[in-house]
Amino acid sequence: MTTQTLPVDHELVRAAADVAHARCRGERHTMAAAGRAPDGRIVTAVNVYHFTGGPCAELALIGVAAAQGVYELDTVVAVGDRGRGVVPPCGRCRQVLLDYFPAVEVIVGTGDGVRAVPVKELLPESYVWADQLGGVE
Ligand SMILES: [Zn+2]
Repeated sequence: MTTQTLPVDHELVRAAADVAHARCRGERHTMAAAGRAPDGRIVTAVNVYHFTGGPCAELALIGVAAAQGVYELDTVVAVGDRGRGVVPPCGRCRQVLLDYFPAVEVIVGTGDGVRAVPVKELLPESYVWADQLGGVE
């Protein structure tokens, strides 16, 4: 599979970085995520750290977006607190993003290497939840 390079939504990265800087506190909230809705709106959220497996910022973002009536996201990015910059999604988030928004672009990389890639490229040979629903009862 060839890597597809897409334009980076820098405003989205800044939105996540601003939330990470202004809202992440201590050990409970260490990551911020931002998502671009098809209508142009930006939705942001932070993770909910907990030893039982609290949701990453990307998963919190999906819930926050739905609460605002946003059920599709075109682009997603996560940024770490303490100036850590863009952080790629973990495996669980890659799977959830793929299943919720198969066409979503995810911003990954650091510094000058920040780039947007289709979520499918972050999860090659992936399990697709929707493909399995028909055959399982
Ligand atoms: Zn995650």
